[in-house]
Amino acid sequence: MATDVAGNLKRVVQSLPPNVKLVAVSKFHPNEELMAAYEQGQRIFGESHEQELSRKAAELPKDIAWHFIGHLQSNKVKYIAPYINMIEAVDSLKLLREINKQAERCGRVIDVLLELHVAQEASKFGFTLDACRELLAGGEWRELTHVRICGLMTMASNVDDEQQIRTEMTTAWRFFDEMKSLHFAHDDAFKERSWGMSHDYPIALQCGSTMVRVGTNIFGERQY
Ligand SMILES: *Cc1c(COP(=O)(O)O)cnc(C)c1O
Repeated sequence: MATDVAGNLKRVVQSLPPNVKLVAVSKFHPNEELMAAYEQGQRIFGESHEQELSRKAAELPKDIAWHFIGHLQSNKVKYIAPYINMIEAVDSLKLLREINKQAERCGRVIDVLLELHVAQEASKFGFTLDACRELLAGGEWRELTHVRICGLMTMASNVDDEQQIRTEMTTAWRFFDEMKSLHFAHDDAFKERSWGMSHDYPIALQCGSTMVRVGTNIFGERQY
């Protein structure tokens, strides 16, 4: 039976406080399913592969706000720079510089989040807290006038242990507050805390999330 995308989306939206943004994570799902969510009013979609994203962005309505949520290689930035709404998982100064360069070429300012590594799993990308502190204290980012750092993104460990997830997300929340007061106290753009996926977004809502990235609960299991 086909997935009831519209019904699923409605349920997820109803479970969110009004000030929390929903990124509908549509990677590996066909255009028709994205359109089912679009027709229900969803406008922010998340993708994690450049070619898939570029194809969908060309084929689907132009008022969709696309978020790149995966690990982005520097050499792929130029393909998405003309239209991307937010790059959520910036995990190096090198990538930040490249986004700035490509955004400048397009005459744009691109919104980004810095990806934090707070999970126990070794495989996850992202800055350690110390590396992120160092990046922001370094100050070079202030000269990158074509990127706007809008907050932080993280993925908690993929575990059943709620307490562990809560601890990791709370660590990210505290760190956000620390960076906000140190470097962004007068910058209203720095406000997003992107954490929470299908299995853990209810916990994320209790741990300061302003933006959840939900795929499976809306579109069903991905067919890789
Ligand atoms: C795929 C993905 C999601 C969505 O995961 P679901 O479990 O399907 O909700 C969220 N964030 C990132 C970074 C992802 O890669």
